[in-house]
Amino acid sequence: MNIVKNIKNLLNFLYLFYNNFMNKFFGHLHTINKHRRLVRKHCFKCGLYFQGLTHDLSKYSPVEFFNGVKYYQGFRSPTMLERETIGYSKAWLHHKGRNKHHFEYWRDIDLVTKKYVPIAMPDKYVIEMFCDRIAASKVYLKDKYTNRSPLDYFLNKDKETELHIDTRKKILFLLNMLNEKGEKETFKYIKSHYKNKTLFNDLN
Ligand SMILES: [Zn+2]
Repeated sequence: MNIVKNIKNLLNFLYLFYNNFMNKFFGHLHTINKHRRLVRKHCFKCGLYFQGLTHDLSKYSPVEFFNGVKYYQGFRSPTMLERETIGYSKAWLHHKGRNKHHFEYWRDIDLVTKKYVPIAMPDKYVIEMFCDRIAASKVYLKDKYTNRSPLDYFLNKDKETELHIDTRKKILFLLNMLNEKGEKETFKYIKSHYKNKTLFNDLN
């Protein structure tokens, strides 16, 4: 009888473990797909087709994906729980080292000071970062999202963000335009001016 009970308990445990894993597996997969769909839509409107299609593809790599599943909660990024649990996020280290739309990618050693410093981001990645921030704000804020939300998020984090001065000016220019003129006009402006290489001509 004891053996039967033990087997029953084991099966029950395996079933719950499997169920929990599957929920987290598909929950995380859905989050990635939804985010990529939104960024793709924004990037296409800016004329960045290749980047729209390939945005965040490394999130499907084993180190990013399975750490995402392991620490999945559904209401915030799994990297937060991963950091709280082991002190750092393996998924984020892998992600930021490969994705050029993150300003964290653009750091290198200054030959004079021998210290790591921010490098200016090429314009096409500033635009992709802009699209990424809009998508992230939309998913996070849901019906509370407005054209001002990505700007507010940037300004809130500004003090702790180590951006190259040119990158800071450029992303602020786009975020302010979004706030003042809305998505349609901003995406249109980006598409035509990026093509003509005049996107940031008004900046000094
Ligand atoms: Zn990313």
